[in-house]
Amino acid sequence: MSQTSEFITITGAGENNLKDVSLRIPKGRLTVFTGVSGSGKSSVVFDTIAVESQRQLAETFTWFVRSRLPKYERPHAEALEHLTPAIVVDQRPIGGHSRSTVGTMTDVSSVLRVLFSRHGTPSAGPATAYSFNDPSGMCPACDGLGRTVRPDWDRILDPDRSLAEGAVRFPPFAAGTWQGQAYTNSDELDPHKPVREFTAAEREFLMRGRPGSKVTVSGTGGTWTTEYEGLADRFERLYLKRDLAGMSQRTRDTVREFLAEGVCAACGGARLNEAALASRIGGRSIADCARMQVTDLIAVLREIDDPVAAPIARAAVAALERIERIGLGYLSLDRETTTLSGGEGQRLKTVRHLGSSLTGMTYIFDEPSVGLHPRDVHRLGELLLRLRDKGNTVLVVEHDPDVIALADHVVDMGPGAGTGGGRVVFEGTPDALAASGTLTGRCLRRRTAVKDTVREAVGELWVKGARRHNLREVTVRFPAGVLTAVTGVAGSGKSTLVAEFTAAHGDAVVVDQSSIGISARSTPATYLGIMDTVRKIFARETGAEPGLFSFNSEGACGTCEGRGIMYTDLAFMDPVTTTCPACEGRRFKDEVLRLTVGGHSVADVLEMTAEQALDLFDDTGVRRRLRALRDVGLTYLTLGQPLSTLSGGERQRIKLATRLHRTGAVYVLDEPTTGLHMADVDGLVALLDRLVDAGNTVLVVEHNLDVVARADWVIDLGPGGGRDGGRVVFEGTPAQLLEAEGSFTGQHLRRAVR
Ligand code: ADP
Ligand code: ADP
Ligand code: ZN
Ligand code: ZN
Repeated sequence: MSQTSEFITITGAGENNLKDVSLRIPKGRLTVFTGVSGSGKSSVVFDTIAVESQRQLAETFTWFVRSRLPKYERPHAEALEHLTPAIVVDQRPIGGHSRSTVGTMTDVSSVLRVLFSRHGTPSAGPATAYSFNDPSGMCPACDGLGRTVRPDWDRILDPDRSLAEGAVRFPPFAAGTWQGQAYTNSDELDPHKPVREFTAAEREFLMRGRPGSKVTVSGTGGTWTTEYEGLADRFERLYLKRDLAGMSQRTRDTVREFLAEGVCAACGGARLNEAALASRIGGRSIADCARMQVTDLIAVLREIDDPVAAPIARAAVAALERIERIGLGYLSLDRETTTLSGGEGQRLKTVRHLGSSLTGMTYIFDEPSVGLHPRDVHRLGELLLRLRDKGNTVLVVEHDPDVIALADHVVDMGPGAGTGGGRVVFEGTPDALAASGTLTGRCLRRRTAVKDTVREAVGELWVKGARRHNLREVTVRFPAGVLTAVTGVAGSGKSTLVAEFTAAHGDAVVVDQSSIGISARSTPATYLGIMDTVRKIFARETGAEPGLFSFNSEGACGTCEGRGIMYTDLAFMDPVTTTCPACEGRRFKDEVLRLTVGGHSVADVLEMTAEQALDLFDDTGVRRRLRALRDVGLTYLTLGQPLSTLSGGERQRIKLATRLHRTGAVYVLDEPTTGLHMADVDGLVALLDRLVDAGNTVLVVEHNLDVVARADWVIDLGPGGGRDGGRVVFEGTPAQLLEAEGSFTGQHLRRAVR
C-alpha cells in the first residue's frame, strides 16, 4: 500500500450499478458522498474502497492470520491505487452481551478503576478489584451481571387467601399436595387465616421455618413426622440452587412462570462486590459514578484536586468530554451497549477512534447524522474534522446539508438510482455543488416550507403518566387520523415515549429497521409474494411446470445451484468468486431460460426493477405489490436483488411496502428518512400523506425538518437529553412550532425556513 500519492485513485470501477467510475479522492481530507438512494454511493465507498483496502491489508498478513480473517473478494475495477488501511464505522449494532457497557467499550471504566484503586478509601486493591468482569471485583451473588433470578413471590403467594384456601399457587407446593401439607398442617400456622393477616413472626416461619420444628404429613406410605422446611428455603433449594437443565421440560416451564428477574439484592445492580463498593472518592463509589449520566460525572471528576489523583481524573474527563461532545452526554457508563440505537452505537465507536493515536488511516462513515437532532449535527462535524486533522482520510456517505457543508470535497453520484445512476455527476467543493445543476445542488438551494393547512384530528389516542426511563409523568394526546412527528434531541425520550404508545395501543403497525429474518436467497420478489404468481403466469403461458421457474428448485442451474456465482477455493489464496460459467449468472437452466413471456425469461424478470415489471404484468395482485415497492421509493431495486444487501432504511421501506393499503390503522415509523436523499424525502412525505388520507394515523420519530414542517402535529420532547429531557416542551402545528420558545426543534425550523 503506497502512501506516496496525495490521492486515492479509482479507475474503471464497476461494482453493482457503477458505470466505469474513475475518481481521485484527496488524502487527509473530509470527502462526502451524496446522491439519491440507490445511486451508487455505498458501491463506491463500501463495496469498492473499503473492501479493497481491507483485502490488501489482509494480504500482508501470514497465511495463518489470513485464514482467520473474513474473505475479501477483489472488487470490480481496473485499478485501485494508493489506498490506506480503512476502518469502517457503521451503524451495525455493537455486538455485545450484558457485560459490555458504554464504560467498557469506551475504556473510561478502566481509567476510573485506576483512579479508585489509587485514591479510593479504603482501597479495594489493584485496579481489577473494581472490575465486574474480573473475579476479584465482581459481586459473588450475581457474578457481576447486576441481575439475579429470584422467586416471584407475588405470583407464588396469594395473600388474600388462607393456606387451606390455596394461598400457595406454585402447583408442586399447593394445598392438597404432599409437599403442600407441610404448610397447612403446621401447628405454628393457622391454615384458615389469610396470609396477609400473618404476624411478622408467622410470615418468617412460613418462609424460613425454625431449626428443629417438625410437621406431620401423610402420603401413600402412611403418616410420618418430618423436619419443617420454610417455603422460601424449599423453593430455593429445589429450584434455584439446582441446575434447571436437569429437570423435565414441564417442570422447567412451571418453575419459570414463578421466577422473576430482578436487580441483584447483594449489590443493588452495581455488579461489584462489597470491598469495591465500600471504596469511595468524595463520598461516591465507582458504581455511583457509573450510574450518573456522563455530563454529571464530568462535573464530579473535575472537583478532584488531590495533586496525585487529579491527572488520572483529567484523563477520564477527557474521554467523557469526547462522549459529551458527540451528543451522548445523557448516557451513563453502566448502560449496556445492547440497548443502544444504531446511531448511538456508531457515535460511540467514533469516540473510541478519536482516542486512538493512529494516523494515515481511512475512516469510513455511513450516514453518521442518523438519530441526531439538527442541534447536535455540528458537534458530529467537529468530530469528523478532528479525525481528519489527526492525519486521516475521512469518507462519509451523508444526506444532511450541514454535514455536506463541512466537506473539503464532495462526490455527487447519480443522476438517478439503480441502472439510472452509477455515475459521478459532480466533484468539487460544497459551495460549487450548491451552485450546480445536479439534483443534490438544486435540493441544497431549496428552503423548507411549513404546511399551513393541517388536517383535523378525527379522534385521540393517549399516553398517560408515562415514567419509563427519563420520562417525567408524561401525559400526551396523539391526534388520530393525522400525521404526527415526534421530535427532540437524542436522548430526550422519543423512542421511550413511542414504545409506551405502542404498548398502550398494541394493534399499532410498527415498521422498524430491524432485519428481516429470512433466508439468504430472499429477494423483493419472494418477500412481496410476487414470485408465486410470476411462476404461475410463466407456467400458464408456456405450458411448463410452475416449479421450474424457481431458483430454489429443479429449474435452477445445476452448476451453481441457482446462486448465479461460483466460489473457487484456491489453496493458500483468497477464494475467488466468478460468475457461473454455465448460466452466466442467470441462475436458471437453459431450457427454463428459453421459456419466455412477452419475450422475457424468468431471469429477465428478476433483473427488472418494479417499474419495468409493471409494464409486463397485468395481474392485479402483482401490480398492486409492484406499485407498493414504487410507492416506498424502492423503484431501483431489482426483483431479484438479495435482501441481505439492503440497508436499514431500505429494509424499513420494504416492510412498509407489505403493510400498505390498510385503513383505520396506526403506523409507527422510526426515522423513516434514514438513507434518503433530500429529493427522496418528498416521495416519502407523499406516501405518508396517502396513508393518512386513506384513513390511517401515522406517527413518525423524525429529525428531518422537511418532514417535521409537513406534519399535521408535532410533539417535541426535551428540552435536553437524559436527565435534562423527558418532558413535552411543545405540542402543536408546525406553524405554531415556528413561534415556540424553548424548543430546539422550533429554533432550527426557523433557521431552515428562512
Ligand atoms: P446508495 O449507497 O447510493 O444508496 P448503492 O451503492 O447501495 O446505492 O446501490 C447502487 C445500486 O446497486 C442499487 O441499484 C442497488 O440496488 C444495487 N446494489 C447494491 N448492492 C447490491 C448487491 N450486493 N447486489 C446487487 N445489487 C446491489
Ligand atoms: P431518544 O429516542 O429521544 O433518543 P430515548 O427514548 O432513547 O431517547 O432515551 C431517553 C432516555 O432513556 C435517555 O436518558 C436514555 O439513556 C434512556 N434509555 C433509553 N433506553 C434505555 C434502556 N434500554 N436502558 C436504560 N436507559 C435507557
Ligand atoms: Zn450482584
Ligand atoms: Zn449457474
